[in-house]
Amino acid sequence: MSADSPIPAVEWLSTQGCNLRCRHCAPRAGKPAPNELETAEVQALFGQLSEFGVERIHISGGEFTTRSDWHELLALALRSFAQVTLTTNALLGQPLGRALVEIEGKERLHVSVSLDGGELVHDRRRSRGSYAAALALLAEIGSLSKEIITTVARDNLGELMHLREVCLVRGVPCWTIQPGLAMGRLAPEEALDSAGRRALQEAVRSLQAEAGAALRIIAPPTTERDGAEPCRCGRDHVVIRPDGRVAACVFIDDAGMGDLRSQSFAEIWRGQRMRAFRLEAARGCVALSHLGAGASRAEGEPPAAGEA
Ligand code: SF4
Repeated sequence: MSADSPIPAVEWLSTQGCNLRCRHCAPRAGKPAPNELETAEVQALFGQLSEFGVERIHISGGEFTTRSDWHELLALALRSFAQVTLTTNALLGQPLGRALVEIEGKERLHVSVSLDGGELVHDRRRSRGSYAAALALLAEIGSLSKEIITTVARDNLGELMHLREVCLVRGVPCWTIQPGLAMGRLAPEEALDSAGRRALQEAVRSLQAEAGAALRIIAPPTTERDGAEPCRCGRDHVVIRPDGRVAACVFIDDAGMGDLRSQSFAEIWRGQRMRAFRLEAARGCVALSHLGAGASRAEGEPPAAGEA
């Protein structure tokens, strides 16, 4: 694989702030970081990304809607990019749904709603009432492009059938399933072990077969064997952290590729460190080996989408 790469999709981890303190949260979101990009910096960043040719941006967090400028920045993103994905914990429920349905450029918006199981399991992991809020938001955004995103650990491996039914009954055509990482707030004993990951893989296969064309299930690799496939991180996907540092992979904090407060995006994307990461990623999931150094390779997990 070449060390050069085309225009990437960008995942912007908009804030470390969150209105929840979920038991499985990899970035331990809660309070915003003290040095997060300010409104004007994000506006300039969007301009720079758009000029570079970026067409797809994924806004995650933390929880984006805890930023006081979220609506203004989402509106700008919708004017700047062809496709904007927003991942939300949906705690703001119906009012958030209404704001999304009414925003200009909503035809370019894709909403990814975190849902981790039935009411009991979801609320135990997140907070009481959060399941109802998520369903209220899903009902409100019926006309928008949308999906459910589920982080699977031991406590919700048995919830997948229920979630599939939520998708089918509520007209959600897409479902992303990602394994929870033994990092952040998710204790190693709560994450899936090898047997659990195999069970998840099997479950995804049969859920997809049973749902047919009505539901597309997206599941990143969950086993080390899958992780040996070339990884898209740093190749067609790049991450911008709340403070403007750029990473190739959402799970590798020590892979700082550059800092947008002192370098341009183009400089970082074409820089030596990103090129070196790309070559490493061509051999398989880099996160598996990096996480393996601490949490043991067997318990490491491949990259997945941002939190919310
Ligand atoms: S998992 Fe998502 S909603 Fe929960 S604390 Fe972390 S960022 Fe917030």
